[in-house]
Amino acid sequence: MKASAILSELGLSTQADDGDIVVSSPIDGAIVARVRSHSTAEVDAALAAATAAHRRWRDVPAPRRGELVRLLGNKLREKKTALGHMITLETGKILQEGMGEVQEMIDICDFAVGLSRQLYGLTIASERPGHRMSESWHPLGVCTVISAFNFPAAVWSWNAALALVCGNSVIWKPSEKTPLTALAVDRILADAMAEFGDAPPGLACVINGGRAVGAQLVADPRSSIVSATGSTEMGRTVGVEVARRFGRSILELGGNNAGIVTGTADGELALRGIVFSAVGTAGQRCTTLRRLFVHESVYASTVERLKTLYGKIAIGDPLAAGTLMGPLIDAQSFERMQAALAQAKAEGGIVTGGERHAVAGCENGYYVRPAIVEMPSQTSVMLTETFAPILYVMKYRSFDEAIDANNAAAHGLSSCVFTTDLREAERFLSDAGSDCGIANVNIGPSGAEIGGAFGGEKDTGGGRESGSDAWKAYMRRATNTVNYSSALPLAQGIDFSI
Ligand code: NAD
Repeated sequence: MKASAILSELGLSTQADDGDIVVSSPIDGAIVARVRSHSTAEVDAALAAATAAHRRWRDVPAPRRGELVRLLGNKLREKKTALGHMITLETGKILQEGMGEVQEMIDICDFAVGLSRQLYGLTIASERPGHRMSESWHPLGVCTVISAFNFPAAVWSWNAALALVCGNSVIWKPSEKTPLTALAVDRILADAMAEFGDAPPGLACVINGGRAVGAQLVADPRSSIVSATGSTEMGRTVGVEVARRFGRSILELGGNNAGIVTGTADGELALRGIVFSAVGTAGQRCTTLRRLFVHESVYASTVERLKTLYGKIAIGDPLAAGTLMGPLIDAQSFERMQAALAQAKAEGGIVTGGERHAVAGCENGYYVRPAIVEMPSQTSVMLTETFAPILYVMKYRSFDEAIDANNAAAHGLSSCVFTTDLREAERFLSDAGSDCGIANVNIGPSGAEIGGAFGGEKDTGGGRESGSDAWKAYMRRATNTVNYSSALPLAQGIDFSI
């Protein structure tokens, strides 16, 4: 599918206009479109419209709100191929992963539809006679979603599907590197809304722009919830700004994810898990495997086999069948990767791969060979998230040493252990094990399912999205006490008789 065909299939204009955001495809560097940033006044108007929409939407019964999300899921099914291509065109991830991202959107819509009938509160035993206590959940207001370039659609859907069934309106500020995917999704949602019939105007919109536009949304108290996905650097600013006005934030920030290969690991399974997690999406997932700790008894054989497998990775046009690794997002990303590799060498690392890789017809794309770096110890480069396919590998002796190494990073997103020893597996998952929001056994750290809560600790920001009870972050909780007696007993046995 050509770029123009993808855009027209999604109802987007193929005419270049005078927009200030120039969208070029990382596949070959070709300019795909220009998109206009929204002005300060337009952002203000969007916030006003979303606030008004919320007031109407909160009165719509939750199962009926779920109907809109059900229709969205259906429209996404119809547009899966075109949207999958759009994601690949704009991010450079391979088509399988572009399509997989749309599947993830469909899955979270299904989840949210079920959830729309399960926004349960509790009944609580009251200490007073003739009293009933309960807990109820209510919509919060406007949910502002700020998303990163590497999951240009799924992150919005994790938030929006839940936020909408929970009775909130949604404003989306996508990455300035991927505004077209957002506009395409906005069109698909508009189709769902048209079929739904009576969704209030302003219920969901896309606001394009860079940091300044994001900062305006973040600072505005009408953004009741700010769900921000991106770098830890961004989260440090956004988290503080939202906290300053006591708003609610869901921070989904960087990751520096590790894996442990123990002496008892199923070697073949571990290798497959490692390669997908370290090389998939060209190392540009928040959950990418970046640090690998291998027991000394299997270190040499594991590294040797990894190098062999790395040599076989098909690197090239991500739209072409058979490609397993596409380009990096841009030149800056390539430069950061090269700088990290130089630093790793200076810190005693032995680097295999990492160089630029020529792809015929895509000379302006930044394709690289994925790198394996054997490290003598966990130095500072290894403790830094470089958003590129670099896998640092290190030997360990005792399992406790490996767990400590896993937890030594500032980030706490995802982690895994490859072992067939039950004690090691359970210890890794225990209170004394991995300190990450995601801890897996015999599966790499990337590729989470939507059914679980997604997110991580420490420099990853602490937010949770998607499954489990992540929906609670999109609602406010009220504790209700009802006195159905004719007396007025006070709690804690207080006597206040006059
Ligand atoms: P980025 O931080 O450069 O940008 C992310 C978004 O934040 C963009 O929309 C950007 O415009 C906006 N932004 C930046 N500064 C802002 C500010 N001061 N106020 C408001 N908005 C601001 O990140 P990126 O390069 O697009 O993405 C890569 C990073 O995202 C990596 O660190 C990766 O680990 C992380 N990420 C995390 C998750 C997760 O769920 N934890 C998922 C995907 C990506």
